[in-house]
Amino acid sequence: MKVSMIGTGYVGLVSGTCFAEIGHDVTCIDIDHKKIAMLRDGKSPIYEPGLNDLLERNIKTKRLSFSTDYTSVKGARVIFLAVGTPSADDGKADLHYLKDATISVAKEIADGGVIVIKSTVPVGTCKLLHKIVAEHTKKKFYIVNNPEFLKEGTAVEDFMRPDRVIIGSNDPDACLVMDELYAPLLRQGNPIHFMSNLSAEMSKYAANCFLATKISFINEIARLCDHTDADIEEVRKGISSDKRIGGLFLYPGPGYGGSCFPKDVKALCHTAKENGMELEIVEATERVNQKQKVRMFEKIRDHYKNDLKGKTFTFWGVAFKANTDDVREASAIDMSLALIRAGATVNFYDPVASENFATLMKTYPETHGKLKVFDDRYECLKNSDGLVTMTEWREFKAPDFNLIKSSLKSPVVFDARNLFDTQKIISLGFTYYSIGKFIKK
Ligand code: NAD
Repeated sequence: MKVSMIGTGYVGLVSGTCFAEIGHDVTCIDIDHKKIAMLRDGKSPIYEPGLNDLLERNIKTKRLSFSTDYTSVKGARVIFLAVGTPSADDGKADLHYLKDATISVAKEIADGGVIVIKSTVPVGTCKLLHKIVAEHTKKKFYIVNNPEFLKEGTAVEDFMRPDRVIIGSNDPDACLVMDELYAPLLRQGNPIHFMSNLSAEMSKYAANCFLATKISFINEIARLCDHTDADIEEVRKGISSDKRIGGLFLYPGPGYGGSCFPKDVKALCHTAKENGMELEIVEATERVNQKQKVRMFEKIRDHYKNDLKGKTFTFWGVAFKANTDDVREASAIDMSLALIRAGATVNFYDPVASENFATLMKTYPETHGKLKVFDDRYECLKNSDGLVTMTEWREFKAPDFNLIKSSLKSPVVFDARNLFDTQKIISLGFTYYSIGKFIKK
């Protein structure tokens, strides 16, 4: 099937490449000329495990191509919209990229074309876009909502083996096309759910807000563990073996970040307000997360008795989670701002996200000259007043503790990801802080 993918970010590029891999003929379109030039050279603008091989293979077989020009939409049976829907200042989802892309598609669409909204959008957006398309074309068209559930870091695997696919459409013809498109990905029997586009739009936000709530919940219990000498890692095991609770998304840490949970939580709260109600649980999730992002800063400040002037701290990891170069809304941002505002400087090392982090932090003038990037995790520790683990990269899990100790000015570890074994690190002579683990005084 001929497919156009509008927007070649984390979702569009992975989805487009995977559709090509299963045999569809895909053109990915983006307004970012630099990105498209890189992709035409076979280089991925993002880090995503497994993506490079698929890109290379499908470009070679000519099932996958890239363009800044919308004319190929003319020949497409299905046109996906996978552009960003960031937060506006009031928390509402900003739909201006989506509206612009929709108008560009409407001007080129062929008769019977199916426009599929893959971006995460508030309930009612399909209706709104239907109106916009109708204003720009006389052709027959369909609008479908098909929320994406892939996770950065395992995006290719998630896309190729989705737990479920959701199709929001009341039109049987459009549903048939979507069924045919996804059939090769659902051979193992995972379900495809057909529902109204309103329910599909709501399902995506409900899923993300539920997962964000799990994270804030375990972080709040970890805070209580800090006050009571219970150990959050034991508690986590104790509750996650209950099938009704499950173990995923129950890891305490420095708060959730990334390009989805923070904005989706805000957007759903905004939708509730527009409908005259408050989402009390989801609002609490967001409040707890804001506090959690600087929880380890408070521990650092308390350890150094409020005197952080002239101190240096080393961050291992700045990506919002492991296996991605995405730093959007990463807790490393809040942590470095808090430390720098208190007079400290920050050294950081990340296997793939350093460049994105350095670029993003340029937008905060107070950090200029106070943030230093390293390409070696041990070099980064030299003369530093503490190691802070911010991302759970695998390479941080079993480090050379003796080298850490000899590199640091004082042997203090602030483990915001609970990566290290408490007994072991203490027996090696470190002062150790964690998120909710019991540490004998
Ligand atoms: P992104 O910022 O990585 O990519 C968006 C791309 O759209 C950019 O390359 C941008 O240049 C392009 N774009 C903007 N306007 C355009 C236009 N008019 N025409 C063509 N291209 C245009 O975004 P993302 O992380 O891929 O997210 C896209 C959507 O998918 C969002 O709504 C997001 O909430 C949702 N989503 C994201 C993830 C994720 O893990 N990142 C997972 C599920 C759903």
